[in-house]
Amino acid sequence: MICLGIESTAHTFGVGIIDENGRVLANVIKAFTTEKGGIIPGEAAQHHADVCANAITEALQESGLSIRETGLIAFSQGPGIGHCLKIGATAARTLSLKNKLPIIGVNHCIAHLEIGRLMTAAKDPVLLYVSGANTQVISYEAGKYRIIGETLDIGTGNFLDVFARHIGLGFPGGPKIEELAAKGNNYIKLPYTVKGMDVSLGGLLTNLKRKSDAGLKKEDLCFSLQETAFAMLIEISERALAHCGKDELLLGGGVACNKRLQEMAERMCEERNAKLFVPKDRKVLVDNGLMIAWLGILMHKSGRKMSIEETDIKPYQRTDHVEVTWR
Ligand code: AMP
Ligand code: MG
Repeated sequence: MICLGIESTAHTFGVGIIDENGRVLANVIKAFTTEKGGIIPGEAAQHHADVCANAITEALQESGLSIRETGLIAFSQGPGIGHCLKIGATAARTLSLKNKLPIIGVNHCIAHLEIGRLMTAAKDPVLLYVSGANTQVISYEAGKYRIIGETLDIGTGNFLDVFARHIGLGFPGGPKIEELAAKGNNYIKLPYTVKGMDVSLGGLLTNLKRKSDAGLKKEDLCFSLQETAFAMLIEISERALAHCGKDELLLGGGVACNKRLQEMAERMCEERNAKLFVPKDRKVLVDNGLMIAWLGILMHKSGRKMSIEETDIKPYQRTDHVEVTWR
């Protein structure tokens, strides 16, 4: 079985093709970016509509297959921005109906976890999923993927991007903050907000903006930002490992590309005899269609079928709403 998966939850329109043995056949990523300002849902959706046909054609060319040689169409059903989700869902329905292929809608966050399990040796990990919009610690418990901890306000990537914009670094901000942070060495005290198993980044963002407006060095602020925000994420990940009795931590989402975050995760895992797993390919960490295709295969093989009527988008879907039939 070969599946074509479509990702369109936020800024990225992605098309991935994978077979049931986990062989990657294509992974095309078209990301919407802006020179100034954040993502306006209607504009991102327009971007997806503009690139949709080309992305599908490119992915098929990369795989050397025709659409009829695939056996399943998967798409991101949620959570995400409604305007954006609709483009991916419509493209998936069209491909499915036109070519008489089964269709399956999948949960975006669980897809990050499952592609991590495929690409690394992790078997039953706790996932620290840190992307633009999402920040969640997810673990498979009592038959479902549960959110053990999460952000109470903004996602880590958005937090980085907004601060980067504030200090004139442009978008996406995460990699630029990482570069500047490497040049800073003076730790500036910042608010550290962990509430139970959750983190809050809004207050930290305001505090950083004020400090930068007051003229503190950008390099030191970026350095201190990373040390503080990442320590919060590592703290809740460590507690999740302890509570869930697990010894594998998996990283996913675009922010997981950050070397300092990886280093801190590595150190924490070493100290508690756990193992850290990070997919090597950046295109697997960020939003992509490949992970959607892979989760589609797992669900389909476990017997999950979806009628077209069931393929409506679910912008607010939670990971624990999903019935797990494949584990
Ligand atoms: P995603 O939503 O998973 O596609 O990830 C996109 C987010 O990852 C954006 O907010 C980026 O700023 C962030 N990002 C990408 N690379 C890095 C990096 N090296 N360090 C921190 N954040 C990053
Ligand atoms: Mg994502």
